[in-house]
Parts: sequence; structure tokens; C-alpha cells
Amino acid sequence: MRIGGTHRVLTKRWDIEDSHLLSTYDEGERYQQLHRALTKLSAAEIIDEVKGSNLRGAGGAGFPAGLKWSFVPTDTGKPVYLVVNADEGEPGTYKDRFIIERDPHMLLEGIGIACKAIGSHKAYIFIRGEYTGPRRRLIHAIEEARAAGILGESAMGTGYRLDIHVHRGGGAYICGEETSLLEALEGKKGLPRVKPPFPAVEGLFGCPTVINNVQTIASVPAVMEMGGEAFAKMGHERCGGPHLFNVSGHVKWPGIYELPFGTTYRELIFEHCGGMRGEKELKAVVPGGASTPVLLPEELDVRADFDSMPNAGSMFGTGAVIALEEGTCMVRTCLRFLEFFHHESCGQCTPCREGCGWLAKIVGRIEHGGATRSDVDLVLEVADKIVGNTICALGDAAAMMAPPMVKKFEAEWNRHIEDEKCPFPKERLEKNRTPEESDD
Ligand code: SF4
Repeated sequence: MRIGGTHRVLTKRWDIEDSHLLSTYDEGERYQQLHRALTKLSAAEIIDEVKGSNLRGAGGAGFPAGLKWSFVPTDTGKPVYLVVNADEGEPGTYKDRFIIERDPHMLLEGIGIACKAIGSHKAYIFIRGEYTGPRRRLIHAIEEARAAGILGESAMGTGYRLDIHVHRGGGAYICGEETSLLEALEGKKGLPRVKPPFPAVEGLFGCPTVINNVQTIASVPAVMEMGGEAFAKMGHERCGGPHLFNVSGHVKWPGIYELPFGTTYRELIFEHCGGMRGEKELKAVVPGGASTPVLLPEELDVRADFDSMPNAGSMFGTGAVIALEEGTCMVRTCLRFLEFFHHESCGQCTPCREGCGWLAKIVGRIEHGGATRSDVDLVLEVADKIVGNTICALGDAAAMMAPPMVKKFEAEWNRHIEDEKCPFPKERLEKNRTPEESDD
């Protein structure tokens, strides 16, 4: 897997041996920005800098981080919590895992600065249960920081109390949704809450809480070091800085590429990832994780950022790009995604609980045989009944992903029905990758 890109801000230490250790981080005189935040800057000054950076939430929603921090009430008499969402479960997404593995102290420094900005003394990192190795590194980094006096009753000797706890998730995708994550962190079943109240007002243990993604928080030291304006200028319009694009699928060089927001998907796939393996034609691109509507090859000149993607009828999502080559069955791809969403639905809302299952059943019938032409219309009809009628975005994700798969590849869906079976060979994903293309 390759690590590359034109702007190595978040990944600049990833090629160094032992980049996860405090000694490596300290060599670059790090934690300076945390010290500056604790001793020289007010909370408002930090928030203004982050607002000016146009730093957007990198977990998929893209909400401006500084604005989110500014919503936290500080006069309630209750503690304020920062929760870092490391429950990275969106199919195709693996950037946060690498941040934690390769540079956990950058994340911890970002947490410290964010805590000062929102008046919090305690942060939780909710990490995906399957991330065993990254969790170990994270805990080791926290122990190192505690031993060095960076965390504790007087963080960096400044008198500011600051501590960070790691909480291991139980393997449910839905706990990546912020309110179900809070429920799980409180020791309950991870079911999304109805909003309002929003977590900024009533979050963890009923207290004001900010929830941010790993990459968002890990970007904060860079924002403070280079200044919000300079960070914003690296990106595109209202999306500041670089983003970690994690690319998988049939490209020659899958990997993590740190590139400015606004890079086009064509540049990403054909310049940075070397194009398609075996010089095959590109058939489709899933631009931001399984939840995001598919793009056709002729749509790849759209800029990859939160504001441009809706104009192309899709979403930026997490920036987890899955490139699919000619010969990939789009009905089967859609079926895999629907089976995933159906399996991960928490079951609270009928449209999601039943609808995702129905969609998977109908598309399964189309893929495996026994469907009629009306089944294609039924997919669109059922999807339409789910959108906007659920508590959280999981149901919407399934329902918004499926229709473009149908509409953009209509002839392929019809051929499945005419042939009464899938016209493509099975299990293409694992075949034919040469060692050079794998670059492991
Ligand atoms: Fe649960 Fe689905 Fe409803 Fe979300 S949309 S709360 S996952 S049933």
C-alpha cells in the first residue's frame, strides 16, 4: 500500500521509523502548539483560528470544526467533554487507523488544543473494536504523554487538568453515528438518539459534548502551527487544508494520498494511483465510502470536496475512494453494500430496518435470478420510502446509494433480468493483482 500525495502535512512523519513514539514526535519539537494553547491563547482565539482554517469534519458530514466548537455552552455548571470518533467502519475507509498507528501523538496534541478551546478537561477516544494494533499504540502514546507530564493534573506544567481515555467499541458500524457512540460510551446499547437535543448541549452523560473525527482533531496542531489562513489556502474555497484520500479497488496503487481538497477524482485515480491495474478501463467510482452515490468515468472532473460533490449528485463522504474496473458487476456491488447496511441497521426505525432488508432481497433476486422487470422499479420505490424517514443517516445512506447504481447502469440491470442470472464472472476483486501493482 502506498503513502503519497502532494501535501504531506498529516502524513509527514509516516515514513520515519518509530513515528508513533513520543521521542520521534518530540524531535520535531512537538506539543509546542498545545503549550502555546494552554499558556498564551484564550479559548476564543483558538476557535477563531480553527474557524479561519476552514477545517471541516472529516468523518463524512463535513461540518466546520471551529463552528461546532463555538456552539458549546460554557455556563451550565456541568463538565464539558470532547469525544473523538475513531469508530472507523465505513466500507473503504481506513485513514484514521493509519493516523493512530503512525502518529498518535499528533492526535493527542490536537485533543489537548481542542479541550482548551471548549473548556474540557476530559476526552474520550472511541475506537473501533477490530483496531487492536492501533488501540495498543494509542494507549502506549497516552501512557508516554502522562509519564512526560503532557497529560495529567497540570498538563505541561500549566495548571490545566487534562486527561484522555480510550474506549473500545464492540464492532457495530452504527456506533460511528455520533449519538449511538455516546450511548455506547455510557455503557448502553448503541442506538442513535433523536435530535434535538444536540450533543453540544446534551451529549455524554447529559453534558455538553463535542464529537470530532480522528483526522479532524489530528489536523488541529497543523492549523495552529501554520495559522488558520495558511491552512485554509491549501484547500479549495470553504474546505481548508489537505485531506487523506484512502483509495482501494482496482487501481494500480491503492493507498493513502494526502492531497488538497478540490483535487479532481480523475487526477487522484490516473495521476496519483497510476490508473487502473492491467490497463483496464475504469467503469465506476464510489467516491466517499459505501454510502455515497456512484460516479461514472465521465463525471470524474468534479472537485473532491464537501461543497462541489452535491453538484455532481453525490457526496464527499469520508474521501474513501473505491475504483471499479470494467467487468465489475454493479448489481452485485449494490447487493454487497445493501447487505452491509441491512446487517448494520440498529432496527429502531421501520423504514430502515425493513426497507434495507427488502432492498437487499430484491437486488439479490435480480443478481441471482427469479426477478421480473418490475423489481427494478421496486428498488427505486422502496428506496424513496426510506429517505428522510429515519432517525439517523444509515437508512438514508442505503437508500441514496442504490438508485444511482440502478439508473446509471440500467442496461446491466435489465440484462440480469433477461438472462435470469448475473452475466459477469464471480469474485473478480481478488484476481489478477500483480506484486508491482500491490506495492505491499
Ligand atoms: Fe437505526 Fe437505521 Fe433508524 Fe439509524 S436509520 S436509527 S440505523 S433503524
